[in-house]
Amino acid sequence: YLEEEVSIKGFYEIEKISDSFNHMISRMQKLESSRQEFVSNVSHELKTPITSIKVLADSLLMQEDTPVELYREFLVDITDEIERENKIINDLLSLVKLDKTAGDMNISSININELLEQILKRLRPIAKNRNIEMIYESFRPVIADIDEVKLSLAISNLIENAIKYNIEDGWIRVSLNADHKYFFIKVSDSGIGIPEDAQDYIFERFYRVDKARSRESGGTGLGLAITKNVIQMHRGAIKVYSKEGEGTTFNVRIPLNYIV
Ligand code: ADP
Repeated sequence: YLEEEVSIKGFYEIEKISDSFNHMISRMQKLESSRQEFVSNVSHELKTPITSIKVLADSLLMQEDTPVELYREFLVDITDEIERENKIINDLLSLVKLDKTAGDMNISSININELLEQILKRLRPIAKNRNIEMIYESFRPVIADIDEVKLSLAISNLIENAIKYNIEDGWIRVSLNADHKYFFIKVSDSGIGIPEDAQDYIFERFYRVDKARSRESGGTGLGLAITKNVIQMHRGAIKVYSKEGEGTTFNVRIPLNYIV
């Protein structure tokens, strides 16, 4: 009997090991396929502006006696495409840098009210261009341990999106609150909203609900991936609530004290 019991036990042990081994392999396969997808997305995104530049330049070269105005027009388009390529490269570099320096946080005690006011001051003229009203509400003073440069980038992305995906004459409300453990930043807008089935994907790299609109407003599809990455590096969380045609709210929660 004893021998039988031992062999049954051994069998279960082997099965357990083989289960966790299979689990590990499938995780590695998933990681590899998401890496491949990322590389193919990056290549595609980087190629798009280059293709446009080539088409524009070729058509200028092909025409004889091109009027100067047409030259100008095409050169403006070429400059726009170069600017776009630059933006994609810069966003990619920020993302790669964030991945590489996950342990390399530059934490200090920062006044979050002042940080938000600075960001709003910088973005207000852009909102004003589209006649969008920006409201800031601070429910209490907040001092927290954060990486100022990284968090500033993350919150700026949210507010820039609230401007880009808003309607003319719309509004944006940014608020700050805290309890004994966390501070909360909320960015709401009166914009076009995000369809329910897209809400799960918006934090993925290069995902865009409407490619044309994102492109038109200078988007790269990397902003929210960067934002989520930064918030996770602060051990925080971000959630989205949105209704198409009504508007969007992003809720951010970050611990007041940075725990290593
Ligand atoms: P993008 O550079 O295209 O703005 P993001 O990663 O910042 O990329 O956002 C991903 C997509 O999520 C956007 O293309 C847009 O479709 C959607 N989105 C983000 N923020 C908002 C918002 N405030 N209102 C509506 N849609 C939004």
